[in-house]
Amino acid sequence: MGDAAAECTIKVVCRFRPLNSAEVARGDQYIPKFKGDDCVLIGGKPYYFDRVFQSKTTQEEFYNAVAQKIVKDVLEGYNGTIFAYGQTSSGKTHTMEGKLHDPEMMGIIPRIVQDIFNYIYSMDENLEFHIKVSYFEIYLDKIRDLLDDHDSFFGCTERFVCTPEEVMEAIDEGKNNRSVAVTNMNEHSSRSHSIFLINIKQENSKTEQKLTGKLYLVDLAGSEKVGKTGAEGTVLDEAKMINKSLSALGIVISALAEGSSYIPYRDSKMTRILQDSLGGNCRTTMVICCSPSAYNDAETRSTLLFGQRAK
Ligand code: ADP
Ligand code: MG
Repeated sequence: MGDAAAECTIKVVCRFRPLNSAEVARGDQYIPKFKGDDCVLIGGKPYYFDRVFQSKTTQEEFYNAVAQKIVKDVLEGYNGTIFAYGQTSSGKTHTMEGKLHDPEMMGIIPRIVQDIFNYIYSMDENLEFHIKVSYFEIYLDKIRDLLDDHDSFFGCTERFVCTPEEVMEAIDEGKNNRSVAVTNMNEHSSRSHSIFLINIKQENSKTEQKLTGKLYLVDLAGSEKVGKTGAEGTVLDEAKMINKSLSALGIVISALAEGSSYIPYRDSKMTRILQDSLGGNCRTTMVICCSPSAYNDAETRSTLLFGQRAK
């Protein structure tokens, strides 16, 4: 147990988005002050991370600094997870997906897909790759498969893919399925966790050596507190469930970071699913996404604190 935890690397990085046009129009103050490349101050209080990324960081810079290495590790047989955590509108989806088909504005996921296939194409012919992807969301602690085939994996489709285009098609399809039967996609995506899984198996036909690595890419539900008054029914159930699953995730990650002998994976659906990519020989990165506006001051501080606790 202790050994497995010791092999696990957990990084927490923080990314601030720019002020958006509505915030600029309203004259909102830009509140973060940056110190070095690992510290941000809010109202003079410092918060430290493995890295802090300022608002001007491009998608490419962010990918190179944060995700590229994990792809390499997964291709060497490690399991990995990248989470985006933050309040709604803080840049989680921008970070994980960005504009999926725009070379400059695309986020981590499409860049990972490109890198994986570039790697495969560069390897010698004795290596055979089997790649499969799954795409699902967790809403009210229930899993919803976003790729509607009939293979089974804790109830979720595993789709074999042979080209980067096929992976991107699966993502587009999953995103479409996600929005079906939902009246407001933005609201829905802020209340559910979306998880894209890439599983890579390599087999050397000469040596018969096998290697498997998988990578979970998680766009978490919005971390904002629901107003204390007025919330009832479904909204309150959603809020409670999100709160519970995010705090369970925070507890698991800090237990792993401390090398604790007991990791409470079973406390939520998400940590149970991600168990073998969070513990063991894992590479985990949490991206803490923040708004820079004074208007979101309180949420930003609570987001930064969550990130600090995970370290
Ligand atoms: P979330 O998924 O956390 O709710 P989004 O990723 O959808 O938030 O971001 C909200 C808006 O802000 C989107 O229009 C997005 O394009 C924009 N945005 C977020 N992060 C950045 C960034 N780093 N640079 C430029 N625009 C950003
Ligand atoms: Mg989003």
